[in-house]
Amino acid sequence: MQDIHRLLPAAFEGWHYELVYKSIRHIYFRIYPDKKIVRISAPHQISPKTLEYAILAKSAWLTNKITTANHVVQPYKPISAMTDSCSCMVWGKKLPVVRKAFKSRPGICLTTESEITIRVPSGYDAKKEEKLWQRWLRSLLNERIQTLLEKWQPVMGVVAAECRLKKMKTRWGSCNTSVRRIWINAVLVHLDPCLLEYVLVHELAHLEEPGHTQRFYQIIETYLPDWKSREIRLKQIALRQ
Ligand SMILES: [Zn+2]
Repeated sequence: MQDIHRLLPAAFEGWHYELVYKSIRHIYFRIYPDKKIVRISAPHQISPKTLEYAILAKSAWLTNKITTANHVVQPYKPISAMTDSCSCMVWGKKLPVVRKAFKSRPGICLTTESEITIRVPSGYDAKKEEKLWQRWLRSLLNERIQTLLEKWQPVMGVVAAECRLKKMKTRWGSCNTSVRRIWINAVLVHLDPCLLEYVLVHELAHLEEPGHTQRFYQIIETYLPDWKSREIRLKQIALRQ
Protein backbone atom coordinates (compact mmCIF):
# COMPACT_ATOMS: atom_id res chain seq x y z
CA MET A 1 0.00 0.00 0.00
CA GLN A 2 2.74 2.46 -1.04
CA ASP A 3 0.28 5.05 -2.38
CA ILE A 4 -1.54 5.39 0.91
CA HIS A 5 -0.76 9.13 1.02
CA ARG A 6 -2.66 9.57 -2.26
CA LEU A 7 -5.81 9.14 -0.21
CA LEU A 8 -4.93 11.86 2.27
CA PRO A 9 -6.57 15.27 2.02
CA ALA A 10 -4.24 18.28 1.66
CA ALA A 11 -4.85 19.31 5.28
CA PHE A 12 -2.90 16.28 6.38
CA GLU A 13 0.42 17.81 5.37
CA GLY A 14 3.21 16.80 7.72
CA TRP A 15 1.20 13.81 8.90
CA HIS A 16 2.09 10.22 8.22
CA TYR A 17 0.15 7.05 7.90
CA GLU A 18 1.32 3.89 9.50
CA LEU A 19 -0.26 0.72 8.30
CA VAL A 20 -0.04 -2.25 10.63
CA TYR A 21 -1.43 -5.67 9.80
CA LYS A 22 -2.73 -7.59 12.78
CA SER A 23 -4.81 -10.63 13.62
CA ILE A 24 -7.99 -8.62 13.95
CA ARG A 25 -11.33 -8.61 12.18
CA HIS A 26 -11.91 -4.92 11.66
CA ILE A 27 -9.98 -1.82 10.66
CA TYR A 28 -9.03 0.61 13.41
CA PHE A 29 -7.80 4.20 13.15
CA ARG A 30 -5.78 5.84 15.87
CA ILE A 31 -4.34 9.35 15.94
CA TYR A 32 -1.09 10.37 17.67
CA PRO A 33 -1.11 14.21 17.58
CA ASP A 34 2.34 14.67 19.15
CA LYS A 35 4.01 12.50 16.49
CA LYS A 36 1.60 13.52 13.70
CA ILE A 37 0.86 9.91 12.94
CA VAL A 38 -2.35 8.18 11.94
CA ARG A 39 -2.06 4.49 12.65
CA ILE A 40 -4.30 2.15 10.76
CA SER A 41 -4.55 -1.39 12.05
CA ALA A 42 -5.98 -3.76 9.48
CA PRO A 43 -6.61 -7.52 9.26
CA HIS A 44 -3.87 -9.51 7.52
CA GLN A 45 -6.13 -10.74 4.75
CA ILE A 46 -7.64 -7.35 3.79
CA SER A 47 -7.59 -6.47 0.08
CA PRO A 48 -6.04 -3.15 -1.00
CA LYS A 49 -9.38 -2.07 -2.46
CA THR A 50 -11.25 -2.68 0.81
CA LEU A 51 -8.59 -0.80 2.72
CA GLU A 52 -8.82 2.12 0.31
CA TYR A 53 -12.59 2.28 0.72
CA ALA A 54 -12.23 2.13 4.49
CA ILE A 55 -9.81 5.07 4.50
CA LEU A 56 -12.04 7.09 2.16
CA ALA A 57 -15.06 6.34 4.30
CA LYS A 58 -13.16 7.57 7.36
CA SER A 59 -11.82 10.63 5.53
CA ALA A 60 -14.20 13.21 7.04
CA TRP A 61 -13.59 11.91 10.55
CA LEU A 62 -9.80 11.98 9.99
CA THR A 63 -9.89 15.51 8.56
CA ASN A 64 -11.84 16.70 11.56
CA LYS A 65 -9.52 15.01 14.09
CA ILE A 66 -6.31 16.14 12.40
CA THR A 67 -7.47 19.72 11.85
CA THR A 68 -8.30 19.94 15.56
CA ALA A 69 -4.94 18.41 16.48
CA ASN A 70 -3.12 20.88 14.21
CA HIS A 71 -4.69 23.78 16.08
CA VAL A 72 -3.72 22.55 19.50
CA VAL A 73 -0.53 24.39 20.33
CA GLN A 74 2.18 22.01 21.35
CA PRO A 75 4.41 23.45 24.08
CA TYR A 76 8.04 23.85 23.21
CA LYS A 77 10.62 21.78 24.98
CA PRO A 78 12.37 23.61 27.82
CA ILE A 79 15.08 25.87 26.55
CA SER A 80 18.62 24.77 26.93
CA ALA A 81 21.17 27.25 25.77
CA MET A 82 24.02 24.97 24.96
CA THR A 83 22.46 21.84 23.64
CA ASP A 84 25.95 20.65 22.75
CA SER A 85 29.37 22.19 22.38
CA CYS A 86 28.84 22.64 18.63
CA SER A 87 25.91 25.03 18.65
CA CYS A 88 24.27 27.76 20.66
CA MET A 89 20.82 29.37 20.43
CA VAL A 90 21.17 33.11 19.94
CA TRP A 91 18.19 35.35 19.15
CA GLY A 92 16.07 32.43 18.08
CA LYS A 93 18.65 30.89 15.77
CA LYS A 94 20.77 27.85 16.34
CA LEU A 95 24.25 29.02 15.40
CA PRO A 96 27.26 26.76 14.87
CA VAL A 97 30.14 27.23 17.30
CA VAL A 98 33.56 27.20 15.67
CA ARG A 99 36.63 26.62 17.82
CA LYS A 100 39.63 28.58 16.60
CA ALA A 101 43.23 28.85 17.70
CA PHE A 102 43.72 30.51 21.07
CA LYS A 103 45.23 33.99 20.91
CA SER A 104 46.10 36.11 23.90
CA ARG A 105 42.80 36.08 25.83
CA PRO A 106 39.99 33.55 25.99
CA GLY A 107 37.00 34.99 24.17
CA ILE A 108 33.79 34.44 22.26
CA CYS A 109 32.47 36.52 19.41
CA LEU A 110 29.79 36.52 16.78
CA THR A 111 32.08 36.31 13.75
CA THR A 112 29.25 36.82 11.33
CA GLU A 113 25.52 36.80 11.96
CA SER A 114 25.57 33.07 11.32
CA GLU A 115 28.55 31.76 13.26
CA ILE A 116 30.05 32.00 16.74
CA THR A 117 33.78 31.81 17.26
CA ILE A 118 35.33 30.74 20.52
CA ARG A 119 39.03 31.01 21.28
CA VAL A 120 40.20 29.17 24.39
CA PRO A 121 43.41 27.28 25.20
CA SER A 122 43.26 23.55 24.55
CA GLY A 123 42.06 21.68 27.63
CA TYR A 124 40.40 24.85 28.97
CA ASP A 125 38.49 24.35 32.22
CA ALA A 126 34.82 23.53 31.47
CA LYS A 127 33.54 25.73 34.32
CA LYS A 128 35.60 28.67 33.10
CA GLU A 129 34.25 28.15 29.61
CA GLU A 130 30.69 28.07 30.93
CA LYS A 131 31.33 31.38 32.70
CA LEU A 132 32.74 32.81 29.49
CA TRP A 133 29.53 31.81 27.67
CA GLN A 134 27.30 33.31 30.35
CA ARG A 135 29.25 36.57 30.28
CA TRP A 136 29.13 36.75 26.52
CA LEU A 137 25.38 35.98 26.33
CA ARG A 138 24.66 38.59 28.99
CA SER A 139 26.65 41.20 27.09
CA LEU A 140 24.63 40.45 23.93
CA LEU A 141 21.40 40.79 25.88
CA ASN A 142 22.48 43.97 27.68
CA GLU A 143 23.48 45.56 24.39
CA ARG A 144 20.08 44.90 22.84
CA ILE A 145 18.22 46.00 25.98
CA GLN A 146 20.11 49.28 25.84
CA THR A 147 19.05 49.84 22.22
CA LEU A 148 15.44 48.97 23.09
CA LEU A 149 15.43 51.31 26.10
CA GLU A 150 16.71 54.13 23.91
CA LYS A 151 13.92 53.37 21.46
CA TRP A 152 10.98 52.91 23.88
CA GLN A 153 11.58 55.11 26.92
CA PRO A 154 11.15 58.40 25.03
CA VAL A 155 8.15 57.06 23.09
CA MET A 156 6.40 55.76 26.23
CA GLY A 157 7.45 58.71 28.37
CA VAL A 158 8.87 56.55 31.17
CA VAL A 159 12.39 55.98 32.45
CA ALA A 160 13.63 52.93 34.34
CA ALA A 161 16.23 53.66 37.00
CA GLU A 162 17.84 50.31 36.32
CA CYS A 163 17.39 47.32 34.05
CA ARG A 164 19.09 44.13 35.19
CA LEU A 165 19.32 40.50 34.15
CA LYS A 166 18.34 37.49 36.20
CA LYS A 167 17.72 33.83 35.54
CA MET A 168 14.12 33.38 36.61
CA LYS A 169 12.18 30.14 36.84
CA THR A 170 8.67 31.47 36.46
CA ARG A 171 8.74 34.91 34.88
CA TRP A 172 10.07 36.60 31.77
CA GLY A 173 10.41 39.93 33.47
CA SER A 174 9.40 41.87 36.54
CA CYS A 175 9.24 45.44 37.66
CA ASN A 176 9.79 46.94 41.08
CA THR A 177 7.82 50.12 40.59
CA SER A 178 8.84 51.78 43.86
CA VAL A 179 12.51 51.87 42.86
CA ARG A 180 11.74 51.75 39.09
CA ARG A 181 13.91 48.68 38.62
CA ILE A 182 13.23 46.23 35.81
CA TRP A 183 14.41 42.63 35.81
CA ILE A 184 14.71 40.76 32.53
CA ASN A 185 15.01 36.99 32.30
CA ALA A 186 18.47 36.19 30.93
CA VAL A 187 17.00 33.28 28.93
CA LEU A 188 15.50 35.78 26.47
CA VAL A 189 18.84 36.02 24.63
CA HIS A 190 18.07 32.60 23.17
CA LEU A 191 14.70 33.60 21.74
CA ASP A 192 13.40 35.74 18.90
CA PRO A 193 14.32 39.38 19.74
CA CYS A 194 10.70 40.48 19.30
CA LEU A 195 9.92 38.54 22.51
CA LEU A 196 12.52 40.50 24.48
CA GLU A 197 11.00 43.67 23.06
CA TYR A 198 7.55 42.66 24.30
CA VAL A 199 8.82 41.80 27.80
CA LEU A 200 10.64 45.12 28.05
CA VAL A 201 7.71 47.19 26.81
CA HIS A 202 5.45 45.27 29.22
CA GLU A 203 7.71 46.07 32.19
CA LEU A 204 8.14 49.70 31.11
CA ALA A 205 4.35 49.99 30.97
CA HIS A 206 4.24 48.96 34.64
CA LEU A 207 6.14 52.15 35.48
CA GLU A 208 3.06 53.97 34.20
CA GLU A 209 0.45 51.51 35.46
CA PRO A 210 1.58 49.00 38.13
CA GLY A 211 -1.30 46.52 37.87
CA HIS A 212 -2.54 44.41 34.98
CA THR A 213 -5.54 46.66 34.58
CA GLN A 214 -7.50 47.52 31.48
CA ARG A 215 -5.50 50.73 31.26
CA PHE A 216 -2.28 48.73 31.40
CA TYR A 217 -3.29 46.65 28.37
CA GLN A 218 -4.43 49.79 26.56
CA ILE A 219 -0.90 51.19 27.00
CA ILE A 220 0.64 47.99 25.61
CA GLU A 221 -1.85 47.93 22.73
CA THR A 222 -0.89 51.50 21.80
CA TYR A 223 2.79 50.69 21.44
CA LEU A 224 2.75 47.06 20.38
CA PRO A 225 -0.51 46.27 18.58
CA ASP A 226 0.66 42.67 18.03
CA TRP A 227 1.56 42.11 21.72
CA LYS A 228 -0.98 39.30 22.11
CA SER A 229 0.73 37.03 19.58
CA ARG A 230 4.09 37.68 21.25
CA GLU A 231 2.63 36.84 24.64
CA ILE A 232 1.14 33.62 23.29
CA ARG A 233 4.57 32.64 21.94
CA LEU A 234 6.12 33.23 25.36
CA LYS A 235 3.42 31.24 27.09
CA GLN A 236 4.21 28.26 24.87
CA ILE A 237 7.77 28.20 26.10
CA ALA A 238 8.40 26.14 29.20
CA LEU A 239 10.69 28.03 31.54
CA ARG A 240 11.13 25.21 34.03
CA GLN A 241 13.60 22.60 32.93
ZN1 LIG B 1 3.09 42.48 34.15
